[in-house]
Amino acid sequence: MGKTYHFIFIMLACTLACGRADNSPAQPPPGPQTRSGNLHPAFSLDREDLAALTAELPPPMREAILENPRDFLDLMSRLMREPEGLLVLVDKSHPLPEGWEPQDLKKLSDYPLLRLSRQNLLLRAIVLPDLLDMAREAQKDGITLLVSSTYRSAAYQKTVYERNVREMGQQTADRESAWPRHSQHQLGTVIDFGSINDDFTGTPMQRWLDANAWKYGFSLSFPEGREELTGYRYESWHFRYIGRSAAEMARRFFGDIQQIMLEYLHLHIQKFAAAEI
Ligand SMILES: [Zn+2]
Repeated sequence: MGKTYHFIFIMLACTLACGRADNSPAQPPPGPQTRSGNLHPAFSLDREDLAALTAELPPPMREAILENPRDFLDLMSRLMREPEGLLVLVDKSHPLPEGWEPQDLKKLSDYPLLRLSRQNLLLRAIVLPDLLDMAREAQKDGITLLVSSTYRSAAYQKTVYERNVREMGQQTADRESAWPRHSQHQLGTVIDFGSINDDFTGTPMQRWLDANAWKYGFSLSFPEGREELTGYRYESWHFRYIGRSAAEMARRFFGDIQQIMLEYLHLHIQKFAAAEI
């Protein structure tokens, strides 16, 4: 029954669209690869293609995508143009390549607007415009964001992990800190805010970030109750910059669970790229 309605709706929408096109000679003719059932002008994907590309997602996420394919593909088209490294999957089973280092690190102490807990903090240049924007907006709401930890080299991550193993034992250290080359911090696009511990949860700064960080392209990496999925316990202070389009996509279509979206993109983004018109 539902399918029949969809079919009728698509036919009706097509008739209306075709009728409009006939009356507007300025409209360019469809490109050679455009098919009548395409869900978005930038992709040669019809409903069946998108259903196949989302088949293994949890049902609520899949349904959200199939109910709003145009918005989803709009965001996909935009995030495919993000600078390299913003969406790379780094977790306990996906290490960064040996010797991988970001090339555009900037000293945060050069930006007086930012409040820093240490002077030697570095982030990739591509994060700065949105970070400064976010700090300015937070300030208007009476919140001064405190940036506490950012880029860590693989060598430094090794010392952090080894110290944690010595102090808390391996099992706890594995929940709290990453192995070298497996840390998002090595990307140079991650910020730990505030006190970097559970005391941060529920503070005005944390609540502001929770509500607003996504608007500036920042996404919480290790949400509450998702340890089995992410490999890490809840870290209310750890935000990864993934760009505004990806942060919006995570929120609208992936239940704001960065890990599921990044795994999804890791597996499928090339298929979307191949379907671009
Ligand atoms: Zn962190």
